[in-house]
Amino acid sequence: MSKPIRVRFAPSPTGPLHIGGVRTALFNYLFAKKNNGTFFLRIEDTDQNRFVPGAEEYILEALNWLGIAPDETVGKNEKFGPYRQSERKELYQQYADELINSGNAYYAFDTAEALDAQRKQHEEQGKTFIYNHHNREKLDTSLVLSKDATEKRIASGEDYVIRFKTPVNETLYLQDIIRGEVKFETNLLDDKVLFKSDGMPTYHLANIVDDHLMETSHVIRGEEWLPSMPLHVLLYRAFGWEAPEFAHLPLILKPIGNGKLSKRDGDKMGFPVFPLEWKTPEGFSSGYREKGFFPEAVVNFLALLGWNDGTEKELFSLEELVQNFDLNRVHKAGAKFDPEKNKWFNHHY
Ligand code: GLU
Repeated sequence: MSKPIRVRFAPSPTGPLHIGGVRTALFNYLFAKKNNGTFFLRIEDTDQNRFVPGAEEYILEALNWLGIAPDETVGKNEKFGPYRQSERKELYQQYADELINSGNAYYAFDTAEALDAQRKQHEEQGKTFIYNHHNREKLDTSLVLSKDATEKRIASGEDYVIRFKTPVNETLYLQDIIRGEVKFETNLLDDKVLFKSDGMPTYHLANIVDDHLMETSHVIRGEEWLPSMPLHVLLYRAFGWEAPEFAHLPLILKPIGNGKLSKRDGDKMGFPVFPLEWKTPEGFSSGYREKGFFPEAVVNFLALLGWNDGTEKELFSLEELVQNFDLNRVHKAGAKFDPEKNKWFNHHY
């Protein structure tokens, strides 16, 4: 029997959700409903420095307005909840320790200055500094220290991080539902930080521990996370867990210039980039709701930015979207708005 379909939307509350994030939530929702699966929401709030008050409430309100309702909500489900990572800290610590004990992770004490100096030195030689086996012996880590010395430094309260020990000399051929086969060389990957001495995991560790424990079957997220896919797959392997399937969605791009659509791009397009108005003491950004749009129209518009059902049909209700949705029909190219022609097109890189 195949695994039950379980997908999640996992925003970090670092600000209001813009239409790119809403579309990711929508595609997860449509995929779940189409396949009789479960859609849940997980707030990834372990980075205290980037936390924006009100962002979590905004996300919940926006999804609610659009009718993209999770089947399991924060704090409501005994088995899996609460889905707020800041409330699950101890758990991540335990898994970081497990990786240390299995030799898949190590402690690192390098200061910001020492790392800057390494970067500079490499630059001067025309090279890029990669924090991995190329440089491990020059770095201040438990891979070169004795167990005793490591423990002493930790006990004395010195700052440390736990890094993943990336395997050497491997070529990974990974499958992405939208992009097909993607290839990565492990020698080009940094030994990423998984855990910090403030007791908080980084995004990578918390994300994969939760996707495992919450039995996520498919990770459907923005393409900006594609570079993290090899690390995530290697982490699943290090824990001995089966990895979920991955689908990286094309980005909604800036109307002018390169990169991902941002908050300021609304002015250039002449319509909002946010579902709801977002006010801060510094100013405000307009939202579709306050401009008088119907939520059904916003959902319809976002679904078609990156997907079509293969016909000329342009008006879909949420029900119809659910019936017709297929991840295999998601475009590979990003969606870009042309302010001169006043319309969206698919931008091939
Ligand atoms: N917290 C990440 C974000 O803000 C989630 C990425 C993922 O879905 O794995 O987009």
